[in-house]
Amino acid sequence: MKIPLDIAALGARAAAMIDELGAISASPDHLTRLFLTPEHRRAADIVARWMAEAGLAVSEDAMGTVRGHWHPAGRDAPRLLIGSHIDTVVNAGKYDGPMGVILGILAVQEMVRAGFRPPYGIDVLAFGDEEGTRFPTTLSASSAVAGVFPPASLAAVDAEGISLRDALVAYGKNPDEIPAAAYDPGKVIAYVEAHIEQGPVLEAEGEPLGVVTAIAGASRLSVTVTGEAGHAGTVPMRMRRDALLGASEMALAVERIAKADPHGMVATVGRMHVEPGSINVIPSRVVFTIDLRSSSDMSRREALTRFEREAHRIADQRHLGVVISAFHEVATVPCYRDLQLRLRNAVADLGHRAPSLPSGAGHDGQAMSKLCPIGMLFVRCRNGVSHNPAEYTSPDDMGLAAAALIRFIERFQLPQLDSSTSGAPT
Ligand SMILES: [Zn+2]
Repeated sequence: MKIPLDIAALGARAAAMIDELGAISASPDHLTRLFLTPEHRRAADIVARWMAEAGLAVSEDAMGTVRGHWHPAGRDAPRLLIGSHIDTVVNAGKYDGPMGVILGILAVQEMVRAGFRPPYGIDVLAFGDEEGTRFPTTLSASSAVAGVFPPASLAAVDAEGISLRDALVAYGKNPDEIPAAAYDPGKVIAYVEAHIEQGPVLEAEGEPLGVVTAIAGASRLSVTVTGEAGHAGTVPMRMRRDALLGASEMALAVERIAKADPHGMVATVGRMHVEPGSINVIPSRVVFTIDLRSSSDMSRREALTRFEREAHRIADQRHLGVVISAFHEVATVPCYRDLQLRLRNAVADLGHRAPSLPSGAGHDGQAMSKLCPIGMLFVRCRNGVSHNPAEYTSPDDMGLAAAALIRFIERFQLPQLDSSTSGAPT
């Protein structure tokens, strides 16, 4: 059977739900909803109510993840997981995270209404800690579900000195029960997430939906350049050892390296600290950061080697010192090829093309990939803006995304993925 779809109605419901969740904030002026706060509690309660109304059995795990279970094939049948997160950054938009949870609920609701019964179960998951805004941890909710939560993270503290452990207890949770939040890998078919693109590619291509190829790996470096301070009026140009000019040349080298990469590498120098920072003193020391992302780990590593070589060449030429240290490293997580294909076919059913694109931002799928194959559907957002109150996705695009999830589930009759096309990481 093909479930009848009213895309405009689905979109209108998604938009109303987005607005309802978007109103739950720590501040009346803007949207801020951090992990394990009273706002998280209120949002989780609304999501639980929606799940129950959609016909799902609701539970909540020890990390605060709200889980809606639909088991038309019995409790022991394998599960398809659909989810996203309901926490936000400070001064956030309404769509990043909540949209994926809402679309999962709407998709199941339509299936229940239509009397469609897949030979597997579906769990909709609303994670509470994707943004990593409150604690210096990230993906702790999805890590618990995937069975890879590191217990040491319980000691992480927020800006007020409250540990994750104490925050969980205050939220009514027992941290000792976190291991029980893990799914049995043998019982999980896949994890699928719909998320706003957070970039401008789909809008530029004129397509509402895209299929994610991989969640890009990232490297973060801190680069310290040392020269010599001196009087801005008395030291001749040829005799200077200006740390800022060297650092600037290195930043341009990073740009050149990223632009030359065939895998769409992106590199950002987002912070630069200049010492002594005086209008009439030649800079003696500069510390700057590099954030480098690519869906190819190999080209990311090659780019780092090239940058190191370039930085030392520039430093030698200018008689400067340079020290490079890597302080953050995350590997690329490829999306499962078979899921990419199935998502693309589902979108094609709706008359759209679904371009392939990597995700430059991190997602819960990174943790979920430790449990099962993952797939992601991107939804066009206006001007590519996210983490900002101006974030916007149209009701029509959300309706299409819900419809694509429905078509995806409908076609997903065999709870077996074709592993022959699982493929090598891109
Ligand atoms: Zn997100």
